[in-house]
Amino acid sequence: MHEKCGVVGIALEDRDAARPLYYSLYALQHRGQESAGIVTHDGFQQHSHVEMGLVGDAFAPGDLESLNGSNGIGHVRYPTAGSVNTCCAQPFSVSFKSGSLGLSHNGNLVNADEIGDELADLGHAFTSDGDTEVIAHDLARNLLEEDLVRAVKRTMERIHGSYSLTIMHDETVMGVRDPQGNRPLVIGELEDGYVITSESAAIDTLDGELIRDVRPGELVVLHDDGTGYDTYQLIEQENTAHCFFEHVYFARPDSTIDGNLVYEVRRELGRKLWEESGVESDVVLPVPDSGRAFASGYAEAAQDDGSDIEFAEGLMKNRYVGRTFIMPTQDERERAVRLKLNPIRSTIEGKKVTIIDDSIVRGTTSNQLVQLLKDAGAEEVNVRIGAPPIIAPCYMGIDMASRDELIAGDQPVEEICEEIGADSLSYLSIDAIAATLDSSRADLCLGCVTGEYPYDIEGEETDRDVHRPEISGQPSPADD
Ligand code: SF4
Repeated sequence: MHEKCGVVGIALEDRDAARPLYYSLYALQHRGQESAGIVTHDGFQQHSHVEMGLVGDAFAPGDLESLNGSNGIGHVRYPTAGSVNTCCAQPFSVSFKSGSLGLSHNGNLVNADEIGDELADLGHAFTSDGDTEVIAHDLARNLLEEDLVRAVKRTMERIHGSYSLTIMHDETVMGVRDPQGNRPLVIGELEDGYVITSESAAIDTLDGELIRDVRPGELVVLHDDGTGYDTYQLIEQENTAHCFFEHVYFARPDSTIDGNLVYEVRRELGRKLWEESGVESDVVLPVPDSGRAFASGYAEAAQDDGSDIEFAEGLMKNRYVGRTFIMPTQDERERAVRLKLNPIRSTIEGKKVTIIDDSIVRGTTSNQLVQLLKDAGAEEVNVRIGAPPIIAPCYMGIDMASRDELIAGDQPVEEICEEIGADSLSYLSIDAIAATLDSSRADLCLGCVTGEYPYDIEGEETDRDVHRPEISGQPSPADD
C-alpha cells in the first residue's frame, strides 16, 4: 500500500513561509515520495517550485530564496489519480480573471471525470488528467461569481470523494476537509503564524502547537497577516467516514489524528489482538517499522495475563531499500523483501515465534517473512495482523492493489494461512478497531475490509456477494 499525499498551508506575520513549508514537507515525506512542491505569494504574485522526487532532491540550494512571501502552500505526492509526471505534481497553480489559485490535494474524487467533462464543454482547457486540476478549475469558475467562502462551498457541493485541501487564493491560505472527514487535516499555531496540514507531526517539526482537527465539511481561512484564522462549517453530514488505515499504517506514530495519538492507537490495537487471538509462544517480533507499536501492546497484554512471552527485535530493516510495492513485478517484489529485512538468528532459533504486522495486501511480504524466520530456525511461526483482512480495493486515494491481487480478496483466512506458510494466522476484528478509535462503525470508512464504501463508486456493485472475512477472534491454523 502507498500512502496518499501530504498537504500544508502556512500564513506568517513577517517572514517568508518557504523554509517552514520545506521543513513541513520533510515531516510529511512518508505520505508521498514522487514529487514535492511549494507555492508562495508575496502580496503581488505567486512563486512556484514543483519537482519530481523526494523533498531533499526536489529543492536545490537557492530554490527556497526565490519563493518569496509570508504565505504559501506545499505538497508531497504519491500519484493516486493522474499520470506519473511533472504535469500532475502539486501544488497545482492556475491564474484566472480574478487572481491566482494554488491547490494541494490529498484524496481522490469519484466524480472528477464528470465535472472535468462539463468544464471542458464550457471551454476550460486542462493540462493534466489529475482530479486536483478539476477542483482548481471549478473553484476558479465559482470565484468569478461568488465570494471566497461561497465559492468554496459551491465546489464542495459539486465534488464527491475524499479530499483534504490546502488552497491559496492570491495570498489567502485556506484548508478544507471533505464532509466525511476521510482524510486527516489539522490546524496548528506557530510562534508567528498558523499552519494547516495533514499531520500534527509537521506542526511539531515547526515547534508549533496542535490546535485541533479541521472538522469534516469545514473551511479554515488563515488571516493574510498570520495573526489568526476564521472557520466556516460549510457542509454538515450525519456520519463521518474516517479512514481507519491512517491509524493502522499510513500516519506517523507521533501524529495525533481525530483526537487519537497514532502510537497509542497501535499499542491498544496490539493489546486487543492478544485479547482476541493471543497465542502462547516464546517471543513476539514486530515487522518493522509499523508493526512495532502493535507488538509492544500485544506483548504487554500477554504479560499482564501471566504469559512469559518476550518482546524482541528479530528482523532488521535495511533503511536504504525502497518500498516493497514500488516494484512492478512479483519477482522484483519478492527480491525486495529479502533485501529489506534480515533476521537476527539469536532471537529466533529454536523458538516459537509470533510476528505482528499491520496488514497483509498481496501476501508476498508475509510469505517471504515466514520463510525467512523458518530458515533462521524458528520452531513455529504464528502471524497476527493488526487490521481485518483487506478484501477490496480503495477508491479514496490509497494505491492498494486490484481486487484480484489481494490475497484476502477471494479466500478465507485458513487458506491465506496455508498460502503464506504460517502455523497460525489471525486478524484483528473491525469491532476492535472501532472500539479503540472510540467510534461507531458507521463513522469509519471500512471499504477495503467490507467492500462497502462511503460513496457510490462507478462500476462497483453495491449489493454484490463479497467474500466476508470470518473474524471470530480465534486463530486459523493452517492445514498441515
Ligand atoms: S477503503 Fe480502506 S484505505 Fe481506503 S479510505 Fe477506506 S479505510 Fe482507508
